[in-house]
Amino acid sequence: MGLHKVYRLKGRQVRALDGVDLRVEQGEVYGVVGQSGAGKSTLLRCVNLLERPTLGTVTVDGTELTALRGPRLRAARRRIGMVHQHFALLSSRTVAGNVAFPLEVAGTDRAERRRRVGELLELVGLSDKARAYPAQLSGGQKQRVGIARALASNPSVLLSDEATSALDPATTESILDLLRGLNRELGLTILLITHEMDVIKRVCDSAAILTDGTVRESGRVIDLIGRPGSLLARSLFPLPAVDHPDAVHLTYTRSYDEPLMSELTRRYDVDVNVLGGAIEEVSGHAVGRLAVRVSGARRADALAWLDGKGLLVEAAR
Ligand code: ADP
Ligand code: MG
Repeated sequence: MGLHKVYRLKGRQVRALDGVDLRVEQGEVYGVVGQSGAGKSTLLRCVNLLERPTLGTVTVDGTELTALRGPRLRAARRRIGMVHQHFALLSSRTVAGNVAFPLEVAGTDRAERRRRVGELLELVGLSDKARAYPAQLSGGQKQRVGIARALASNPSVLLSDEATSALDPATTESILDLLRGLNRELGLTILLITHEMDVIKRVCDSAAILTDGTVRESGRVIDLIGRPGSLLARSLFPLPAVDHPDAVHLTYTRSYDEPLMSELTRRYDVDVNVLGGAIEEVSGHAVGRLAVRVSGARRADALAWLDGKGLLVEAAR
């Protein structure tokens, strides 16, 4: 909470985090999205105290990490797993050896290590690759090893720094499915950072938009999309800007039984002209954003009716 991180570079100050407040609920997938340089990686490194924030506190699972030092901090950090964009595997070790590594560091005995590695490789679908070396694996398989290794110490929280950014779309999809599955089956809380809006759409329950070290907006994805002027809605569902007095942007975050547009034209005798938009499923909800022109004498009543139906009606700018 209230995280600040200032780097000093050649006498110059870089405010990588400028007062970030983030609350991730237990058992949810939380996505932080932002452009390169926004402070995403710094945020993750501060959350697991790989770096100490200049100011502010980090609490994970009820323990304030920023208040701990030495062995107690190391023990608390074992409850946090980390997945990296470029996998960070040890090339001289087999897949099993990579997954076993954190267990060796923690002093787990040999028999338990073997059992746990077998279990973890099965969890990520790599049981048949235990003896392979990283160089013999595809990108997606390497990331599965990275995820298995991150889960070795049985963390309650998994941090992911652009885990899918180095992968092709189909592989990205399978890794996101894996993360979603782990979240559901193990109740694992996942905090992931990404610059890809699609990742937010596909797996996140909640999200925050980070710009220049500040959270611009945050909350449940479905709530954010339905909020007036939402940056997230605009990024997830870009609509054409239409410079016409009759044009509006419509947003809805649930499905309707009745055909809204045909009822609208019948009730109010207006013409509806769809200019662009998309309807997609976002965290289990049907979400639609449309740019439309509504024209006719009873235009204002028609828009009020849509508003009454729970649609967000905004100027198309
Ligand atoms: P992102 O992951 O969103 O691309 P980063 O957290 O890596 O952003 O970086 C945020 C800002 O902090 C950038 O301006 C970057 O140059 C700066 N920064 C990151 N790490 C360091 C560091 N170790 N020393 C100095 N500046 C840093
Ligand atoms: Mg980064």
